[in-house]
Amino acid sequence: MADQDLIPFSDKYKRIATEEAWAPEELLKMYADLYNSKTYDDPGFDSLWGFYGSSMEPRPATVRRKLADLDDERIADMDAAGIDFAILSLTSPGVQVFDRDTAVTLARDSNDMLKEAIDRHPDRYAGLCAIAPQAPELAALELERCKNLGFRGIINNSHTFGEYLSDPKFWPIFEAAEAMDMPIYLHPTTPPKNMIEPMLEVGLDGAIFGFGAETGMHMLRIITAGVFDRFPKLQMIIGHMGEALPYWMYRLDFMHNAQVSSHRYETLKPLQKKVSDYLKEHVTITSSGMAWEPAIKFAQQQIGLDRVMYAMDYPYQYVKQEVTDMDNMDMSDEHKKMFYQDVATKVFKL
Ligand code: CA
Repeated sequence: MADQDLIPFSDKYKRIATEEAWAPEELLKMYADLYNSKTYDDPGFDSLWGFYGSSMEPRPATVRRKLADLDDERIADMDAAGIDFAILSLTSPGVQVFDRDTAVTLARDSNDMLKEAIDRHPDRYAGLCAIAPQAPELAALELERCKNLGFRGIINNSHTFGEYLSDPKFWPIFEAAEAMDMPIYLHPTTPPKNMIEPMLEVGLDGAIFGFGAETGMHMLRIITAGVFDRFPKLQMIIGHMGEALPYWMYRLDFMHNAQVSSHRYETLKPLQKKVSDYLKEHVTITSSGMAWEPAIKFAQQQIGLDRVMYAMDYPYQYVKQEVTDMDNMDMSDEHKKMFYQDVATKVFKL
């Protein structure tokens, strides 16, 4: 299929894309300024936004333009790919690279901008609430405000200054998310300074591998810290076919049990359930950047048909052919409708 060909909308299901990024132009400029200032000591940020923030190569320049557009170009791209509806979230690293007060203000302002775009295109967009984990108690307040504005969940771009949501100081965010019945999308960012070097030196720090390794570990830290035992109604979402975790479940269960029962680590405590049970009961997985039938089917079999949903990862991975590939999966229309529409409708209460 030639790239200019349009993919028609389906009459069998609505295609809902669930991990679609945006960023205000002001925020993109702040990333560029932060990179140029050399005041922020984070090689991952430098790698990602040193490239996307200022490179004039066609790919990063196009990504920048598409990130900032919430109207004509984005809607045209959705129309061309036959995407009915998009769940929009603030691109990585969101506000999580700024000082506390700046981050709180930026999160609030970007949520207001996204709300205005949703109001302009209510039949095409819903949004996830950006929060500043730097201020967990205020994040809970912003979440409540977002809930009242009609946001459908929360976006968190993995670690914040090398700190993880498994640290109890962040748990007011989980408490608020559970109380307001809003799922948290744990989206990647580049690994922190003490993890990234062996990846960075060979160009494996970003979406090619480092994102998944770091975010998968983050999800595991949340599980093994007992977050879902403490917040039994909390629901989370991870992209990229679960950041490889579905494929690890057997060994995670065996080794978690082995290490806990042998008291090897003070920090690895008993849990109420197996590690894999938390993935099956508390985590929904999206196909962002991983439009690959065998991986999708494996996750559907092992995590559940009601736990796997579609995402395109626009604009970083805007590939119309993916939609055709997903349409052509060897899968019943009923299960394809779950993948494209029903799971997202349930998770985000659309
Ligand atoms: Ca993404």
